[in-house]
Amino acid sequence: MKIMSINAGSSSLKFSLFEMDTEEVLISGLFERIGIEGSMYTIKYQGNKIKEEVELKDHGDAVKILLDKLISLKVISSLEEINGIGHRVVHGGANYTKSVMVTSKVAEDILKLSDLAPLHNPAHYLGIKAFQEVLPKTPMVVVFDTAFHQTMEKENYLYALPYEWYTKYGVRKYGFHGTSHRYITKKISEELGRNDLRIISCHLGNGGSVTAIKDGKCVNTSMGFTPLAGIVMGTRCGDVDSSIIPYVMEKEGKSAGEILDDFNKKSGLLGISMTSSDSRDIEDGMHEGNEQCILAEEMYVRSIVKYIAQYYVELGGVDVICFTAGIGEKSVETRQLIIEKLAVLGIKLDLEANKVRGEFAKISAKDSSCLVYVVPTNEELMIAMDTMELINR
Ligand code: ADP
Repeated sequence: MKIMSINAGSSSLKFSLFEMDTEEVLISGLFERIGIEGSMYTIKYQGNKIKEEVELKDHGDAVKILLDKLISLKVISSLEEINGIGHRVVHGGANYTKSVMVTSKVAEDILKLSDLAPLHNPAHYLGIKAFQEVLPKTPMVVVFDTAFHQTMEKENYLYALPYEWYTKYGVRKYGFHGTSHRYITKKISEELGRNDLRIISCHLGNGGSVTAIKDGKCVNTSMGFTPLAGIVMGTRCGDVDSSIIPYVMEKEGKSAGEILDDFNKKSGLLGISMTSSDSRDIEDGMHEGNEQCILAEEMYVRSIVKYIAQYYVELGGVDVICFTAGIGEKSVETRQLIIEKLAVLGIKLDLEANKVRGEFAKISAKDSSCLVYVVPTNEELMIAMDTMELINR
């Protein structure tokens, strides 16, 4: 069975075509600058990289070229060979607790939720429509980033704000990166042959979130109403006192939107280091004795440790801590700094085992009070697996 996994952004479209029997990626790629001058695509196929500049007026153009390429490169001989398409959708609100087949109501709901995810949901809608136009008979599924977190209790997802803001406007914690946290939960449960685990999953990429999971279900997560909340991130501030917004608005003569833009794009590792949002540059800076980089990394690590400690208590102890995404999978140093600060809980690393980058590995010491693993995430595969499951039902 062949399933395509799609992530449509406002000016981009990322795809992977999976052979589900082997979970192998047959072909993958990215269309960029859709609707903007200088649009192009990059395709990875059989170890080769094809890069070309083409005119892409809209997502429909990208989909047409993508499907033509699948045929001309002989990945498939007819479009009927694509058994299903899974679309990543950032926001599913409170009502979508699982992946679902695309119907006209589902597509409309995604568009309606644009209020909560203005940069993402309209683009996902365009992606769905573009595929429906050329492949009207191919079953399609949507997989929501928020769905996994909808098992949180009200006490954990509400803010202590006027209750009508929740009932009237949906102001609450939704949580994000759910597809990744769910994939990590599945992988580690399979590895240990148990579903009754207390897991703390640390997704540390450009964006980052920490999630507490019990018996396969999300109990709490660090991101909130939007993906701005929680831990320190590459360019996002994470949790801050909201009174800073009107205070700096007045000082700098900026609008609330401009301050939020600074929170999203000029803060986090970048804001503190004044150098870079990339943890590799921060590490280089630390080794050169750059004080801002040392400070940024320490604040980053402490923000993650704070959530792990909170969730350790909420879960009544922990069986496994997992690290995933760019930094979680590859930064040996960040993992070490985090686990060192958890020594009071008896959590210990095997420093040799921790030298791994981007590979599934157990990295805890034999006498650690809980297991620690590096688990490379694979959101595209999770989307394809959900799609296959729903089509087969
Ligand atoms: P995104 O959230 O955009 O999907 P990723 O999960 O790909 O991001 O993570 C990207 C981040 O991973 C980069 O900003 C970089 O900080 C970090 N990273 C990648 N490789 C390494 C490495 N070898 N060592 C430390 N950090 C790394």
